[in-house]
Formats: sequence, C-alpha cells, structure tokens
Amino acid sequence: MSIPTMLALPNNALINIGIKSGENVHYQLSPEELTKQTVARKEGVLNDTGALVIKTGEFTGRSPKDKFIVKDDITSEAVHWNDFNIPIEPKYFDVIYKKMLCHLENKEIWVRDCYACADPEYRLNIRVINELPANNLFAYNMFLRPKAEELESFKPDWHILQAPTFKADAASDGTRQHNFAIVNFTKKIILIGGTNYTGEMKKGIFTILNFILPHDKHVLSMHCSANMGDKGDTAIFFGLSGTGKTTLSADPKRHLIGDDEHGWTENKVFNFEGGCYAKTIDLSEEKEPEIFHAIRPGALLENVTFCDGTNKIDFSSKKITENTRVSYPLYFISNALDPSIGKTPKNIFFLTADAYGILPPVSKLSTGHAMYQFVCGYTAKVAGTEAGVTEPKATFSACFGAPFLPLHPVKYAEMLGRKIREQKVNVWMINTGWSGGAYGTGGRIKLSYTRAMITAALDGELDTVEYEAHPVFGIMMPKECPGVPSEILNPRNTWANKNDYDKKAKELGEQFIKNFSKYASAAGKETLSAAPKI
Ligand code: ATP
Ligand code: MN
Repeated sequence: MSIPTMLALPNNALINIGIKSGENVHYQLSPEELTKQTVARKEGVLNDTGALVIKTGEFTGRSPKDKFIVKDDITSEAVHWNDFNIPIEPKYFDVIYKKMLCHLENKEIWVRDCYACADPEYRLNIRVINELPANNLFAYNMFLRPKAEELESFKPDWHILQAPTFKADAASDGTRQHNFAIVNFTKKIILIGGTNYTGEMKKGIFTILNFILPHDKHVLSMHCSANMGDKGDTAIFFGLSGTGKTTLSADPKRHLIGDDEHGWTENKVFNFEGGCYAKTIDLSEEKEPEIFHAIRPGALLENVTFCDGTNKIDFSSKKITENTRVSYPLYFISNALDPSIGKTPKNIFFLTADAYGILPPVSKLSTGHAMYQFVCGYTAKVAGTEAGVTEPKATFSACFGAPFLPLHPVKYAEMLGRKIREQKVNVWMINTGWSGGAYGTGGRIKLSYTRAMITAALDGELDTVEYEAHPVFGIMMPKECPGVPSEILNPRNTWANKNDYDKKAKELGEQFIKNFSKYASAAGKETLSAAPKI
C-alpha cells in the first residue's frame, strides 16, 4: 500500500542499522503526502487553514528524567553527569536497540534523510526512522532539508530511531519507566520509545551538538534564538522555555536566523535547525502575526483543541496541555535568512520571565554580570499548587539550557565570556514576566513594550540615556526608553508597597546566591563580584 514516490531509499540504508524491512518503507515523503496519510490513518485532522493537528497522547512535553546518555569511553570522563545527564550502561542500550529492531521488523515505517547545522563546515547528516507519518513530518519541518541531488550520496552521521508504541521494560532494560530517549555517542544512534512527543527528536540532536561542537570543534553551542537586521547586525536571545525566544525572534523588521538552537564560531552564528517549534497558547494574529500565518498546509500542530463544532483552533484552551505547539519549516517565515547563518552577534539578550516581578523589564549588563547571569540561567514559573492557589517558583538552569548540556556549564560560560570580551558584545537582560507586583498582583509585561525595549537596544537608542543600578542585582536600568512608559523601567516604582518590593528583591537575591554556590569555586573574580548584594 505504499504510495509511490520519486525517491528511492538508498541501498542498504536499513540493513546498515539492522532493520529487516518489508515492502512498506516510505522514504522522503513530501509534507502533503505525510499529512494525507496521517489523516487517512485517523492519527490527525486538518484545521480550517489546512494544517495537520495531532494529539501526542500520554506525553505533551519532554521527559527529562527519562533521557539517558550511554556511559562509555567517549562520555564517561567528558560528560558532566547530573539530573539531566543520566548515565545508562552500554549493555542496556544494546538490549533496547535489539528489542526496537524486532518491534519495527516488517512494519510500515517512515524514513527521512535530513541534517542539522546550516554551516556546511559543521553539517551533521541524520537519518530519522519513524513509526508514524506525523513524526516524520516533524523531522521534515524541524531539521534541514537536503537537495534532491544531495540525497544520492547521502551518508548519515547519526540515526534517530523513534517508536512511540514501543515500551521499555524498566526492570530488564535499565530505564526508569516505559518511555526513554537514549543517546549513544559511540554508535551514533538516538533511541526514542514510549513517547510520541516530537520535541524529544529535536532536543536529542541538540544534546549531541552541545557535546560535539564545544568539545571537538571549539564552537559555542547555545540554547537561543537569533535574528539579523538589514545592516547585518545579529542579535541572539537566550532564555528558558516560555521566556520569549521564538516570539521575540519573529520580528517583521529583522531576518529570522532561528528560534531555538545555534552555534557561534569565530565569526558567524548559524542555526542548527530547519524550522521553528512555537508555542500556540493564547496565540493571536494581532500580537504574533508571523507565527499565526505559519499555521497552514505543512505545519504540524500538537495538542490544540477546536472551538465546539468547528475545526477552528481555540488558542486559549489548555484542555490537553498549556504546552500546545506548532512546527513549521523556516521558509514559512517570509523574512527568514537562507541559509540561516548570520554575522557574529552585536547584541545578546538574556530573556527571563520573572513571575516575582522583581527584575527590571530591560537592563544592561557588564561582562561580570553577564557571566553571572548566564551561569544562573534564571526564570520564575507560575507553579500551580492547590486549586486556585498559585505562586511563583524560581528556576535556575545553567546557561539557560541545563537539560540539554552534556558538558560542565563552566565550559560554555567560559567560551561565551571570551567572545563577549573579545568581540565587545552588548549584553542585555529582558524581563518578559511580571511588572507591578508578583504573579497574582501585577501583570505580565505587555509584549508590545518588550518589543519596543528590544528595538531601542538594537537601534542604539539606549546608548545615550541615563542609567541607575539596581540596588540588589547591580544591573543597569535605563531611565527612559522610546515607546515605553518611563515609570515601568524601575520595577520598584510599579509596586504599590515599596517595602514589599525591597524585601522580595532581597529574597530573590538570596535564591541566586544559594544556587550559585555550586559554581563559585570555578568562577573568576569579575563574575563573583556580580553576585546580588543583600
Ligand atoms: P521554548 O524554549 O519552550 O520554545 P520560548 O523561549 O521560545 O520557549 P516562546 O514560545 O517565545 O518561548 O513563548 C513566550 C510566550 O509568552 C508566548 O506565548 C508569548 O505570546 C507570551 N508572552 C506574553 N507576554 C510576553 C512578553 N512581554 N514577551 C515575550 N513573550 C510574551
Ligand atoms: Mn521556542
């Protein structure tokens, strides 16, 4: 029943990886074909603009506790083993691999040849093998797409085997539970099973690049978005999930480089990916037109629901999850750079969604403060506890991406610090979170204000204004900014009770200091002196 295609699977492609395949191998299908098949198999439906909508089932997000790295000669000394880099013995990898091969034997499968890294010098060829067509569409959207003539001689560097319906047996397979993502640097294979959350594939490849690039190639890998102005001025935006990397890098006045994963060489920034993976919760055409219009044939939406009796998406609904997403190829964004390579950055933004409402909406950082904040990787989420009771919770994630970083955070921080110093890069911190009080009292800073602050920083309009230092964090707050009411620039002004602000600011500073204690011995004087003063 396989649909005939123009492209033939290269000889031995599956034998090399150990799969005994039947007739039903789909190779390099187009987005149209994958969408059609998914709908025909009743694994998805179309929305009113023709995009494919799927539900990912049990998992609607990544599962960091079930992500393993095989501990072997390559990794045992080099990897910084912690809660995110969990070791697994090679023998368990072998057991699971063998079981997965049996599971896939003679099954209908979808194979895609693609690559990561827009810079040809660092290109990493990937062969993705999926059990479901929708996951293969995700691979089409998110990884880079080789030209037809490149496929003839395509040699995969890495393989991803992804089988959502395969479940591990924790007792015999060395996993925590039935789902897993396992990275094997010696065999150059990523195994994903028991979860249908597509993001595991993209973050699996991100994890290996975060090892290979800094460790072997002297390239800084970063969890950031990037865009470039008409004059070739690149900006990068670091931040944890939900802080605004995707939203703020989609700027109609600038060229998108990428929304999540980049490498920084001596003189360039390049995207690892070929697409974007945007949150769609509360998405509106007015506030985020680029992302809104990317929802069209070829896009893949996850876990959104429709308005009753229609196939119109209800973007406000959290019925399945708050983490509703859409993936689409970069070329869906009209002003995206192709290839997605920019010049060395002139501006770096650290994005934080501070639900405590303490950090200023925009501030300028010295190199010491930049290093300190980079190692901290702070954001504060609104943590739901009992029904109706919600309060902020601080999250510190080194280098704004601890779950994806196999090496010690200091390795990445040192590389960034050297670049900031040598290339004289401006560093800014943007609080995309709360103002006027913490979550519950204040409100989220208007997206239009955040955009105006970033534009002002990029256009040099904050170079000539007066600044004041934040009393606890020491970062420099501009006293004025075009397009933004001056009274919100110092967060203390926006709180009804100033004593409350001062108290909460110190409490937050204490949390920073406590978190930083584990890195203090490796940090230099300049970084240490940027600690909060309480
Ligand atoms: P991930 O790493 O999970 O992809 P991300 O950093 O890309 O996360 P976004 O997808 O950009 O995060 O999410 C930011 C969310 O916050 C969006 O839904 C956006 O609409 C919303 N938002 C509200 N106010 C602001 C603001 N002032 N600045 C940025 N984003 C805002
Ligand atoms: Mn994003």
